[in-house]
Amino acid sequence: MKLSGVLPFARELLAKAAGDGDAVVDATCGNGHDTLFLSRLVGSSGHVFAFDIQQDAIENAKKRLNEQSAASNVTFFHCSHSELQSVLPSSVFGKLTGAVFNLGYLPGGDKQITTTGNSTIDAVKQLLSWMKPGGIIVLVIYHGHEQGKTEKDKVMSFVSEIDQNAAHVLKYQFINQKNSPPFIIAIEKR
Ligand code: SAM
Repeated sequence: MKLSGVLPFARELLAKAAGDGDAVVDATCGNGHDTLFLSRLVGSSGHVFAFDIQQDAIENAKKRLNEQSAASNVTFFHCSHSELQSVLPSSVFGKLTGAVFNLGYLPGGDKQITTTGNSTIDAVKQLLSWMKPGGIIVLVIYHGHEQGKTEKDKVMSFVSEIDQNAAHVLKYQFINQKNSPPFIIAIEKR
């Protein structure tokens, strides 16, 4: 297939927005796959701010980074991404170039602990002011589970109403796949 799958496309977007020396956010670090990707993308002169409400997820992500000899350029926050503006250093205000949300539950973890529409929207609103113009927020939306459907509806009604003078908002989705495949919402700050 020549068309990018959803996860590769998410990374293509992040790689367009962020690079060496940049400050970026992994809003849902989980097992750390995206954290590792972002750590490599911004290099040792850049920084990744990674959030998760589960300590187990943070431990899994740290282990992955260690095993892969990643640069020590990641700060973990064991709290909700909706607390972003109270925990990020003010030095990165207006300077973030990329952020990713991989929504849903921790693979291999408790499926009852999931992201929710309200905190996701809260965090996206905050990120929109912390991003640099041209910075991209990528949301990977999984809506095959019950909480995921509710979250998708809330997030979609919020992002569809973002002022077009404030951001470009893109939806990337395979529309003929079965079983509610995940899709991407990308928000580029203008
Ligand atoms: N990106 C991860 C990876 O590479 O393995 C997968 C993330 S997983 C689909 C979603 C994660 O979001 C879970 O680990 C969950 O604990 C976390 N989460 C749920 N609500 C959150 C919140 N309000 N703030 C930050 N993380 C949250």
